[in-house]
Amino acid sequence: MANINRILVVGGGVAGLTTAAALKRHDLPVELVERQDTWWAPGAGFLVHANGMRMLTSLGLGSGVEKAGALVRRWHFCDQQGHLLSETDLEALWDDTGPCVGIERPELQRALLPGVVDLRCRLGTSVTTLVQDDSRVRVGFSDGSTCHYDVVIGADGMKSTVRNLILGTRSTSELGAMTWRSISQISPIPGPTAIQFHLGDGCLFGFMPIGRRRIYGFNYVITQRFHDPLEGRLERLRHRLRNFGPRVQEYLGALERDDQVICSTMMWMEIKEWHAGRVVLVGDAAHASSPMMGQGGCMAMEDACVLTEELRSARTVEDALASYVRRRKPRVEWVQRQSMGLANLLTASTSARDAMLRERGAQLMQDRFGPLVPPP
Ligand SMILES: Cc1cc2nc3c(=O)[nH]c(=O)nc-3n(C[C@H](O)[C@H](O)[C@H](O)COP(=O)(O)OP(=O)(O)OC[C@H]3O[C@@H](n4cnc5c(N)ncnc54)[C@H](O)[C@@H]3O)c2cc1C
Repeated sequence: MANINRILVVGGGVAGLTTAAALKRHDLPVELVERQDTWWAPGAGFLVHANGMRMLTSLGLGSGVEKAGALVRRWHFCDQQGHLLSETDLEALWDDTGPCVGIERPELQRALLPGVVDLRCRLGTSVTTLVQDDSRVRVGFSDGSTCHYDVVIGADGMKSTVRNLILGTRSTSELGAMTWRSISQISPIPGPTAIQFHLGDGCLFGFMPIGRRRIYGFNYVITQRFHDPLEGRLERLRHRLRNFGPRVQEYLGALERDDQVICSTMMWMEIKEWHAGRVVLVGDAAHASSPMMGQGGCMAMEDACVLTEELRSARTVEDALASYVRRRKPRVEWVQRQSMGLANLLTASTSARDAMLRERGAQLMQDRFGPLVPPP
């Protein structure tokens, strides 16, 4: 094993918390800094697919996530009126990989925190400078302090400062799509719990149970970015989705306030280099993706465990980081491509798409998720 006395994880989102938890579990000397003053996490709902749950279970965090969320057993593609086009049994698809769990985003954050108990975690602190030589990295922090580390892991999201400091600024690209996300309390979908995608023309509305009788609802729309002010947002959402079926109307009817609806632009990013010297990237800092497969966070969980394995087994830090990138890149790039492919469902002609999903929807799911069943 390489000689490692001190590792810094920058960022306390999904990628940072799982990476720190994985390193700690294997007795590697790790500490974490997070820019925000609290462990707050933005977003509404989150699907932890079975491949993500497999990683969390290996870190002793799986049962906490399961308890805080809801099992999701089926994946439904439906037409705009809510009629079923195809159904995939997720338990059969993932075999014994683990369950799929729908969970509220802040609950997921809370469920990951036991993984970093007893670690030195500095909130309200960000990285401002990174200077490295062959043997260590000198890190400057926003509180004016500096420290030396053997390895620095950038888990600081799509707009990563670590990435910008080691690789130069790499800008993200817009996907040409926007999203409106919310949580509502309506009666659960009858039958086994399912994530449902109701497909319209250039847009979709999706539902997923996230526990405690709450449903996460998400609207993805193919459109150039525009500003959707908070005031009147719910009414505009209802108007935009007026041609969707009764289930969507029931969901929207149960929302009460504009501030229940989070609006954002969808971004993605593809970069060649994920590391330089002793500094390496994980999660969105390395590979932010279109959310159509809901795999971005799960890929970050896999990054965490693979990077830890490599740091434990390689002879040098440089070998470990190069090996980590070699193992992770093909799988992550595959997910990015498949996610883009799924986004094409929104731009295809509605009748051809619905016919295709009736005929081959289950196969399409198998083709896209099946390759993620073997461990990373
Ligand atoms: C609409 C949508 C739906 C999605 N749904 C799913 C889903 O269902 N399932 C799934 O697996 N994925 C999903 N994803 C993707 C998932 O949200 C991301 O891949 C995941 O959150 C990335 O985690 P991260 O920790 O890499 O980055 P982030 O969550 O962005 O966390 C980065 C952290 O670093 C901190 N930070 C930033 N800069 C600094 C600094 N300089 N110093 C210190 N700290 C810093 C930030 O404050 C933040 O806490 C979705 C994405 C979108 C857009």
